[in-house]
Amino acid sequence: MKLCSISRSPLNTLLVFELEDGYTVESVLYRGDSLCVSSQVGCNVGCIFCASGRYGFYRNLSWEEIVNQYYIAISIFPEIKRIAMAGIGEVLHNWENCKKAFFKFKKEGLKVSFYTSGFPLSKLEELLDLPHNGVTISIHALDPFLRNRIMKHSGNVDELLNFLRKKISQFSEKKKKKISLGYLLMKGINDSMEDIERLGDVASELGLGVTLLHCNDVGFGIEPVDNETYERIFLYLRDRGIRVTLSNRFRKDPLGGCGTLTVNRYAVKNG
Ligand code: SF4
Repeated sequence: MKLCSISRSPLNTLLVFELEDGYTVESVLYRGDSLCVSSQVGCNVGCIFCASGRYGFYRNLSWEEIVNQYYIAISIFPEIKRIAMAGIGEVLHNWENCKKAFFKFKKEGLKVSFYTSGFPLSKLEELLDLPHNGVTISIHALDPFLRNRIMKHSGNVDELLNFLRKKISQFSEKKKKKISLGYLLMKGINDSMEDIERLGDVASELGLGVTLLHCNDVGFGIEPVDNETYERIFLYLRDRGIRVTLSNRFRKDPLGGCGTLTVNRYAVKNG
């Protein structure tokens, strides 16, 4: 595995790695001290807003390929202190390797957080029990039909909620604070007041915070909501007493922001 390019914007640094078999995957250095790493070549979940799964799934990364993104990156950027396992791939679909990589990162003294679409639930249970530094569970819709439209190959959201009801009730308030529901706002798709009320109901019931994510334009015709709507939704949830985290500017950056990482970037570019 070797680093084949580094691109920079004022906010993020995108690192493209070539694997032994010629595939490329990507990591993003953001906030100066955090590295978002990939766990698979491609992704099977097929979220309609995400470039990472555009061509489907090719293969899992080995745990060595996951941690080597960090070892190569830190040789250039020695200030890395946090890992987000939130790049290309669904961590629960490559769970054994992601778990090994997690413990390796912890041994290095790093803080490690995850993003996941939540299935399979048996693996989500293991993930939630790890000594992690944050898990964001991507919900994006509470209506099962709509969620299936947004995340084509994820599981049933009602099953996910039933699981969370049981699992989260075992956690202390401190542990609950490390878990949030991810909701990426897409104009005209999941941003109606009814959608947001359901989100508020579920977050309140579970006692979890909400991470409101910005939709980056990756050429799929899915648009972000305007700033006014974003603000209105934020205030609505906050006024219901829900802990709300907003997309930071790093996640909104077209270089390396949410949903922008790409498998085989140069092959795609060169046709
Ligand atoms: S958002 Fe995550 S789970 Fe969905 S397609 Fe992209 S990489 Fe896969």
